[in-house]
Amino acid sequence: MRLIFLGPPGAGKGTQSRELAREWGVPQVATGEMLREAVAAGTPLGREAKRIMDSGALVPDDVMIGLIAERLRQPDAAGGFILDGFPRTIAQAEALECLLKDLGHTLDAVLYFEVAEPELVRRLTGRRLCRQCQTAFHLVSAPPRRAGVCDRCGGELYQREDDSEATVRHRLQVYAQQTSPLLDYYRQRGQLVSIKAEGAIDAIRDAIRRAATAAR
Ligand code: AMP
Repeated sequence: MRLIFLGPPGAGKGTQSRELAREWGVPQVATGEMLREAVAAGTPLGREAKRIMDSGALVPDDVMIGLIAERLRQPDAAGGFILDGFPRTIAQAEALECLLKDLGHTLDAVLYFEVAEPELVRRLTGRRLCRQCQTAFHLVSAPPRRAGVCDRCGGELYQREDDSEATVRHRLQVYAQQTSPLLDYYRQRGQLVSIKAEGAIDAIRDAIRRAATAAR
């Protein structure tokens, strides 16, 4: 299974890719999480990325392309992967095409998560994440059993710096300008499959399973 999960911030790519990667036994390659880990570890990449991420802008293409090239060359990605948050620009998509050709791999499909903007803002501003296992909760629609504590692993819940309302609005603009052109890019290649990504998480996951199976 070699899939890209494409869509705006808050569309549910992380939630769905984490579960499905586990189910399918392939790595979830989430570039935002890789960057947040680099920030937490205080690496040079993390120091460079933090300010950009906090503002809601995109980290430069050359940095991201280098990061993904290194990640997809790891042995655990040889049998498949789910890309979550990459590519985010046309330049990244073109670099990915070259990289996959080099590795002798082809994409099965690009799944586009369709969610209306007011719902994205609602999801992102109420989102809380587990520091340990990254499971996502929502203050109103999916609260944890105990406030501030992860149901799955007992880890501490936190709000991402870039989930404040002002930054969320900026991230959605960045998505519209820099990432949404990828829809046409993949549509032209016959690889784009749309998923209605509002409603119950389990029903959306079933739709993704069906789309992924049909694409193989
Ligand atoms: P995410 O967790 O996918 O919402 O990503 C969080 C932040 O990390 C984004 O707002 C960007 O600043 C940065 N980021 C993640 N993936 C990429 C990418 N493919 N290209 C550029 N910046 C990225």
